[in-house]
Amino acid sequence: MEGLLVTHLPNVRYLCGFTGSSGVLLLTEERSVFFSDGRYIAQAKEEVRNARVVIGRKAALVSAAEWLVALRAARRRGFVVGIEGEYFTVAARARLAKMLGLGFRVKATSALVEQMRMVKDSDEIKLIRAAVQMGAGLFDITVNRIRAGVRERDVATELEYDARESGAEQMSFQTIIASGERSALPHGVASAAKIPAKGFVVCDFGVILAGYCSDMTRTVHVGQPGREARRAYEAVREAQQAAINAVKPGATVGKVDDAARKVLRRHNLAKYFTHSTGHGVGLEIHEAPRIAAGQTEVLQPGMVITIEPGVYIPRMWGIRIEDMVLVTETGCEVLTPTTKELITI
Ligand code: ZN
Ligand code: ZN
Repeated sequence: MEGLLVTHLPNVRYLCGFTGSSGVLLLTEERSVFFSDGRYIAQAKEEVRNARVVIGRKAALVSAAEWLVALRAARRRGFVVGIEGEYFTVAARARLAKMLGLGFRVKATSALVEQMRMVKDSDEIKLIRAAVQMGAGLFDITVNRIRAGVRERDVATELEYDARESGAEQMSFQTIIASGERSALPHGVASAAKIPAKGFVVCDFGVILAGYCSDMTRTVHVGQPGREARRAYEAVREAQQAAINAVKPGATVGKVDDAARKVLRRHNLAKYFTHSTGHGVGLEIHEAPRIAAGQTEVLQPGMVITIEPGVYIPRMWGIRIEDMVLVTETGCEVLTPTTKELITI
């Protein structure tokens, strides 16, 4: 492969610092070239490092294709261009092949930059810590707004307003405030439903600060929980701790998932744990590695992952507890400072 066209914007940002919405980074053995259009002249000049900047009159990909054609003409030999298979559309690939013409082969690659992004450097970890801290602070305020009769959406709206007020660029994903029966929906985005007088409320949200995402979940209970509910909460908490205890360099992510599942199996709740145990977090809210059954990725120091087992009894209630965890040289560090004792309101 003589060149790689990086088009997935978080990967572009990771490699050269550009944060805009239109840009292509071409990596060749000799040099890196960043392409954008007229809207980004000033921004590209200010942000892009480790790459030559080319501002074209046409779309970034067209400029990149023209550059490649000129480069090959100087070399007079065959040229393989890699594209990011997970993100390049079929239509864009056809357009690219047509623009490049004979003498080129377009080859789909998979997760080349994502592999590099899995292990965070100290600057990235600092930014992630700041995002996690902001998220935890917002949760402390949000807890005081959760009451019977308040709409889920109003809790989410105020949380998001506070996040922007504190300097967050945006939320990492659509805020989940899922109360009562809706807490049994693992992705119960805040709705117009009013929080009932009794039951769990799952709060799952994150902020993006300086490009890096945070992600946390706490489940609180409105009114006094019954014995069943309390038992299930403690089982999820135990499962979450067991998975955290399994996080260390050299462990496979499948083993971490298994640690959580094993605890829930012992409490006869495993069949209600219907998603994976966690995911990597960084410039994107969901990135490699996936902490899921059977996955063989090996944990390395510098990886940042979530640990978020949950239990969901359809049409009754749901519980999830989620922390962000940094893999260290000797084990791990839980970044999320928030208590996991059951908070009752
Ligand atoms: Zn989450
Ligand atoms: Zn998550």
